[in-house]
Amino acid sequence: MGRIFDIKRYATGDGPGIRALVFLKGCPLACAWCANPESQHAETEILFYRDRCVGCGRCVAVCPTGAIGLDPAVGLTTDLAKCTACGRCVDACLHEAREKVGEDRSVDEVMELLGRDRRYYENSGGGVTLTGGEPLFQPQFSAALLGACKREGLHTALETSGFADREAMELVLEHVDLLYYDLKHPGPRAHQAGTGQSNAPVLRNLSRIREAFSGDLIVRIPYVPGFNEDPDVQRKMIETASRVRGIRRVEILPYHRLGLTKYAALGRTCAVADLAPVDKGSLGGLRDLGRRHGIEVEIDAR
Ligand code: SF4
Ligand code: SF4
Repeated sequence: MGRIFDIKRYATGDGPGIRALVFLKGCPLACAWCANPESQHAETEILFYRDRCVGCGRCVAVCPTGAIGLDPAVGLTTDLAKCTACGRCVDACLHEAREKVGEDRSVDEVMELLGRDRRYYENSGGGVTLTGGEPLFQPQFSAALLGACKREGLHTALETSGFADREAMELVLEHVDLLYYDLKHPGPRAHQAGTGQSNAPVLRNLSRIREAFSGDLIVRIPYVPGFNEDPDVQRKMIETASRVRGIRRVEILPYHRLGLTKYAALGRTCAVADLAPVDKGSLGGLRDLGRRHGIEVEIDAR
């Protein structure tokens, strides 16, 4: 069994062709700029979109634990300590103001769903991408699911922060055709401040990645002003990536603000909420930097 928070069918952009993106819930990092904050906690959560709520009170009536209150002054309140994430309020709401994030699924259940679109993946040269959250946070499930995909002849890709122990990496990477590996910051203190974790395992795993993985490798670098936009910091990361044998390219992921509404729906505040989105056109110099290090640098256009 694995805890999943979304499966996007007919996706493009995280691997070749048309793909299914399977999002796993739970991540050991807590990046301040994370665009999927609902992916971070391993527990199932209920999101509340206040702007959609009409105050009908249906959710209050069905909640078995009394977690939801209806305050005329502020609208709905949810006592998270009382919420068991049963999902009854989500089913009761007619306005899609409440959303349950995180379901436990077996490998067979996910494979059944993926099998429905199989001809799209096959005809387009696509497949399945595991992302999150951090797929290596659930290594047994990720390995079993990717192994099942390989046995069905599907191309497999994995997105990882690289923050995982060696055993988890070896277990999962055996079933991966294409690996997206994140580099966020070369400095230990800045990495700790921005993500909540040390970068030591990330750098160590990347330096030894070819002992465990012989497939296609792309390094992804989030570009976050105030965190890692310093040219010297970018140069160090591109240099580090260029030293990995057989790396295909580096992809730069400019910071955007698309996840902000989800922070509000989770009752959380984004630590970089005031940050303006990055102008992608301003990042052309990173391509030149890549050329100087003999590696292609692509700026993500999404
Ligand atoms: S998920 Fe269940 S316990 Fe939590 S607020 Fe909704 S109805 Fe209440
Ligand atoms: S059921 Fe939906 S619309 Fe009604 S009060 Fe609850 S969240 Fe708001």
